[in-house]
Amino acid sequence: MAETSAGQESKGQALAARLWRNRWLLAAGVVAVFAVYYFAGVSGYALLLALALLAAAAMLPVDAERQSTDAAAAIEASGLQRLSGEYLAAAVADPLIIFDHSAAMVHANAAAFAAFGGLAPGMSLALKFRAPEMQALLDSILSGEVASDAVDYTEKLPVERTYRVSASTVGHATGLYVLVFKDQSETRRIDRMRADFIANASHELRTPLASIAGFIETLRGPARNDPAARDQFLQIMQNQTGRMARLIDDLLSLSRLEMKPYLKPGTEVDLRQTIDSVIDSLGPLAAENGIVVEREFANGRLVVPGDRDELFQVFENLLENACKYGQSGGHVTVSVAAGDDAQQAGFDVTIRDYGPGIAEEHIPRITERFYRVDVENSRTQKGTGLGLSIVKHILTRHNARLSIKSEVGKGAAFTVHLPAR
Ligand code: ADP
Repeated sequence: MAETSAGQESKGQALAARLWRNRWLLAAGVVAVFAVYYFAGVSGYALLLALALLAAAAMLPVDAERQSTDAAAAIEASGLQRLSGEYLAAAVADPLIIFDHSAAMVHANAAAFAAFGGLAPGMSLALKFRAPEMQALLDSILSGEVASDAVDYTEKLPVERTYRVSASTVGHATGLYVLVFKDQSETRRIDRMRADFIANASHELRTPLASIAGFIETLRGPARNDPAARDQFLQIMQNQTGRMARLIDDLLSLSRLEMKPYLKPGTEVDLRQTIDSVIDSLGPLAAENGIVVEREFANGRLVVPGDRDELFQVFENLLENACKYGQSGGHVTVSVAAGDDAQQAGFDVTIRDYGPGIAEEHIPRITERFYRVDVENSRTQKGTGLGLSIVKHILTRHNARLSIKSEVGKGAAFTVHLPAR
């Protein structure tokens, strides 16, 4: 009952407010109606009707007003008005800090405590975030000149993280302000990786291109009439175009793998048959490098779900590396055995060489794009620096893993752990 009369009272107040807001329009309308009555001599009833219409129009709510009344009703109905700022802050996944007009912290959510530590109510944010960009952000929002503002801020410790920090005024006479920190570190890392990749790929292409351009120049000038030099230079140019072609093939392979969203389900790969064909196809390279390839295959059915062409490429890259870099060992073993992971049935394919091996510090980085232990050696072996990153990409798509074990001077073993289901 009390609510109904309070509601009627507030409706009356709203009508009065609308009439007051439209007072000048109303006055102009009344003058116009009287002028028409006086000069055009219309009837008294028409005059009363026109005045009533005018008053009704002045009392109608305008659109924006109607919307805000609706929004207020919706907030009231959903209980949002009773929602505490603390709960709202806790529901925000990004670090969030509420502060007052003196830049003293009032409240911080759990994400802010986890990200910045050492926060406490009453603490000065100007002292906590001393970076000039944060000072400027706090100054600009507290000066009242803007309702919201944002800056990029890097927190150096314990690990470097870059945030897009936005500050806004809460308003509604609360005297409070909010800082929200959006972590940009991952986006930055991906941007940096992309830029590095483009720089590396361009550099790798530019080197043979520069060499070809140089030889063309020489062939047109000093070596014009020297058949022996011409043959030698043409051979180098052919090698360089081969190098560029291999690099472009590997780059296309990588980008095709990145574009392929998922593995076609239902296809199976016979490891015995696939690895046999890899060994056969690399027979000439192995022979050229004086390598004998030995097979140690477990008995029975060696079948895993996967894409045959992609797994062929994995074993081909690994065996090719073993033949190239493990040349001095004289032999390479390729083994297929039941996986030793009790949690997941599968097969382990190991390609082991007995060459110089890989020093421990290189192993974690060896699958990165363009990472090579010895750039010159890789180039003379017709490497692009992309082979193992292609391997890693394909294995990820197969839910498989690559593990590398090596002891300097004793060779290297690359094992692919493939799940059977
Ligand atoms: P690349 O095209 O240079 O062979 P990869 O990605 O296949 O590129 O290999 C990266 C680097 O890892 C090679 O340049 C080489 O330094 C090292 N590497 C790969 N396999 C072996 C191996 N079996 N023994 C020693 N070093 C290896």
